[in-house]
Amino acid sequence: MKLSYKPYSLIFKHPFGVSGNTRKETPTVFVSVQEGGYLGYGEACLPPYLGETISETLAFFEKARLLLNAFNLSSGSQLLFNQLDSLLPGHNAAKAALNMAVNDLQAKLAGQSFAAWNGLPIKKQMPTSFTIGIDTEEKLIQKINEAEDYDILKIKAGTVNDKALISLIRKHSNKALYVDVNQGWTDKQYVLEMAGWLADQNVILLEQPMPKEMKAEMKWLSKRCPITTVADESVKRLSDLKNLEGSFTGINLKLMKCTGLDEALLMIDHCKQQGLKILLGCMAESSCGTSAMAQLMGLADYVDLDAPQLYTNDPFEGVKYKNGDIIWYDLPGIGAVPNKNLIL
Ligand code: MG
Repeated sequence: MKLSYKPYSLIFKHPFGVSGNTRKETPTVFVSVQEGGYLGYGEACLPPYLGETISETLAFFEKARLLLNAFNLSSGSQLLFNQLDSLLPGHNAAKAALNMAVNDLQAKLAGQSFAAWNGLPIKKQMPTSFTIGIDTEEKLIQKINEAEDYDILKIKAGTVNDKALISLIRKHSNKALYVDVNQGWTDKQYVLEMAGWLADQNVILLEQPMPKEMKAEMKWLSKRCPITTVADESVKRLSDLKNLEGSFTGINLKLMKCTGLDEALLMIDHCKQQGLKILLGCMAESSCGTSAMAQLMGLADYVDLDAPQLYTNDPFEGVKYKNGDIIWYDLPGIGAVPNKNLIL
């Protein structure tokens, strides 16, 4: 199987602020794997706070190339990814890219969408939230207006005055909100009080209110919280999910955290068994990664896959957005193809 890759910089329409940092672009590496005249595509999205760099990711692909050269698709891909996990720990986004590309290729060879090829329930259209990063009042209002089509807004909180932030948004919009604190609060009593207030403000999900280390406090909160508590930084892979022990009532599943579609499906199984709600999320990915994740919508409770809408130079064609819904169309594979700006 032939592997190619290319680093790329995704440029935001507006500088993107979350609790702790603001940035203008997202480093990304796109990959393709080729066999039997077909190309499978994948994306490793590398926002700096995750700690996976472009150079480490390219080095990972060079090492993976040796395994891919010896790999036979007919034996299934599980062995390949097990080997990568044991030989090269970490590199979750790089593994996600490769897993996406191999799955895209396999589904294309079968002539089916990834969802159909895996026998998943098919849901091609769902409402997605639209993310509003931390910004000045003037810019926030501009972003709310730009999000006119969307029925759900995702607000990045964890500011010095989150009540003022939510109140400001409420002056301009009555839409349902997901609030993502990105570990920004540290007092469980304060979080519980905020959760009650947020519930009255039509906030329906509270994402990662406290640092991932505060597991006992999160368990205390989740027992009392009137809104679904969603684990993001606390859960990367299946092993983290198995160790949650009641500290959240939902999870934000992201391919870049969990090493790809194969592990995402295992995590969804676990969530269903444990009664945990599933939010399909993404890093600030292009239409490549988000199209792959959208294939799992038939298994999800909530969707937060607006990232391609935040960029000026998405090099893939894939999912489309209409009246606040994300939609995928029946193409073989993950349903994303590069446009003329990207040669792989
Ligand atoms: Mg989050």
